[in-house]
Amino acid sequence: MSITLNHTHDVHARSWVESANATGADFPIQNLPHAVFRRAGSSEAFRGGVAIGDQVLDLAALVRLQQLDGLALDAAKAAAQPALNDFFALGNAAWKALRHALFALLKNDAPVATVQAVRDCLVPQSEAEYTVPARIGDYTDFYTSIDHALNITRLMNPDGDVTPNFRWIPIAYHGRVSTIGVSGQRFHRPMGQAMAPGAKAPTYQACARLDYELELGVWIGTGNTQGEPIPLERAEEHIFGICLLNDWSARDIQFWEMAPLGPFLAKNFATTISPWIVTMEALAPYRQAWTRPTSEPQPLAYLEHAANRESGALDIRLEVWLESEKARKDKTGPSRLSSTSFKHQYWSVAQMVTHHTMGGCSLNPGDLFGSGTISGPGEGEAGAIIELTRAAQSPVTLANGEQRGFLEDGDAVLLRGWCEKPGHARIGFGESRGTVLPARG
Ligand code: CA
Repeated sequence: MSITLNHTHDVHARSWVESANATGADFPIQNLPHAVFRRAGSSEAFRGGVAIGDQVLDLAALVRLQQLDGLALDAAKAAAQPALNDFFALGNAAWKALRHALFALLKNDAPVATVQAVRDCLVPQSEAEYTVPARIGDYTDFYTSIDHALNITRLMNPDGDVTPNFRWIPIAYHGRVSTIGVSGQRFHRPMGQAMAPGAKAPTYQACARLDYELELGVWIGTGNTQGEPIPLERAEEHIFGICLLNDWSARDIQFWEMAPLGPFLAKNFATTISPWIVTMEALAPYRQAWTRPTSEPQPLAYLEHAANRESGALDIRLEVWLESEKARKDKTGPSRLSSTSFKHQYWSVAQMVTHHTMGGCSLNPGDLFGSGTISGPGEGEAGAIIELTRAAQSPVTLANGEQRGFLEDGDAVLLRGWCEKPGHARIGFGESRGTVLPARG
């Protein structure tokens, strides 16, 4: 099921783009994530690009150079479009052909004439702006971290447990595409109904309990035909790659509206994703065994496979940072709120894909999954502020002394992610940043 390691994962490989070789760089030659970009503030057409160091390799310009041929050229033409859906639809062989061709062009032993030509296709990331990288047909948000689910449950009942279905089903709801934006998104604090404890009627007001959710976005590459479920051993072939995702959440609105049909207005006003999609091939060195303690129920047969057990989990390190308006004005920088890893997730991304399609639902190229809030088992590993502050009962203190129970106007929330371990290149996700504006009352 999983992609085997090959020469594009070689930790010793270096690029002639020097910034890609720097210690701690998010985008070394072993990563090569995809985005859709243009020069910031220009009227240029958006087109596909690949990150290398602090540069974007402009795939539309590269195609014109005639340095590629065969499947890699077909893939580059599709990946140069203003939306990556056609590239996703080409499937694994094309994604791999392009990765391997770009690796050869960008490696420090590429012919001098190649380097001179390809250098002209680079745009500094500091001069680029990005857009949502595909036409997202459907967006599904999962709920697959048991630590998050337990933290939320125990806010209301300290002895409570997750709902019985959590341990058997990768739980999800169908979300909203129209308000998904790329990093840099700014949105107004939502208005809505909330029911105060003990009150007899709800009030219409600006959300008073605004929160973020640290999640990963899973981009569906190739889809399936309606009525033809994707078996677990084939599920990862359908995943193109992964980005960072912030599922902004209005907790007061959510807790009033959620029963019995699930979140609605509490979740549909904004979702922020990082511009770069890290491919499953780039993540191959960071796969690890997916485990389920023997004290827990084991998955039903359709969610069980040896390959998922062997390498279904991904060790992606994640952090949440908060930059208040005051910190931004004073230039004192953001404060780290939490850090964890995706490896703790109760269900794997493959199990999400298989479960989603098991009843006959079709997925399409460019569909997006949210992983669900990612919280780890330890202190300081919670992926939402409601967990960190126990619903504002224990506010967090920022580096400049400000306190937060929930988010305030002007707050920017930054998500960061990367993979790192000895003997392998660091694979970074870049950043997802979103900013809260005051409510339109
Ligand atoms: Ca969520």
